[in-house]
Amino acid sequence: MIRILSVFLFCCCASRAGERPYLSTGAWQKLVENLTCSVEAEGKKKIVPRKYRYGKSAQNRPLEVFIIEPEPESRDEAENVYLIAAQHGDERNTTRVLEYFLREVRQLSRDYRNERRILIIPLYNPDGYKKKKRLSAEDIDLNRDFPTKDGAKENPQAPETRAFLRLLDRYPPMIIYNLHQPFRVILADREYRKLAEPFAKLSDYPLGEDVGYPTPGSLGTYGRENGIPVITVELARSMKKAAAPFIFEEVRLALFHAAFGCIPRQAYRSRLEEYLAE
Ligand SMILES: [Zn+2]
Repeated sequence: MIRILSVFLFCCCASRAGERPYLSTGAWQKLVENLTCSVEAEGKKKIVPRKYRYGKSAQNRPLEVFIIEPEPESRDEAENVYLIAAQHGDERNTTRVLEYFLREVRQLSRDYRNERRILIIPLYNPDGYKKKKRLSAEDIDLNRDFPTKDGAKENPQAPETRAFLRLLDRYPPMIIYNLHQPFRVILADREYRKLAEPFAKLSDYPLGEDVGYPTPGSLGTYGRENGIPVITVELARSMKKAAAPFIFEEVRLALFHAAFGCIPRQAYRSRLEEYLAE
């Protein structure tokens, strides 16, 4: 059974709206400790994400989600948490970050599963990724393709969006973390700000409300219209592969907290040197 260490203490060290999230080393360590969960004994059996093909891209590439099922007694009423990357195919370090995350999740004891079902999509737009371009193979911006009041009438147009909407139907989301680049900021609607705060504080990314230009038909707008909290995680700017371990290092504990609702104690250890040596 998972024990959450006094999560409510978090409120005491949370800064007021509008302040920078930056914390001193001591305050940050205290925050991490307060958000940590531990198990009585970390069993040897590891978490094994289940790969599920939820559709095909315009060019017939598989659309894949890696699913971490909750502990068995929570299956029927699981809270579905999504982490998705590379809606824009040129934002390549979003994919690499979720690939590192999946690697680390596979090293966690199964005892850290809880009431959440975690759905990880490292490569939302495989055709665009392949060509290192933002749009899909059909030149559709997959983060403007959602059926929203401000979006295009024909939305959704892309097979990638239709497949994702079917997945959302099958596993209704409690929250979606949508990884992009390059603005190095966490974005959330005002009403979901509290939900986004731990991510900002754990990563030292500032917290904002929008990117500063209109995004009609975006997943964020779709979430707002349908009561789904969507937290947009804009990672740091570099698209270079060599920068991926550093960008992951910035957000790794925040990702664990986003996925599990707490930071598994076993996930503390950074593997940065290992990744840099590869
Ligand atoms: Zn993007």
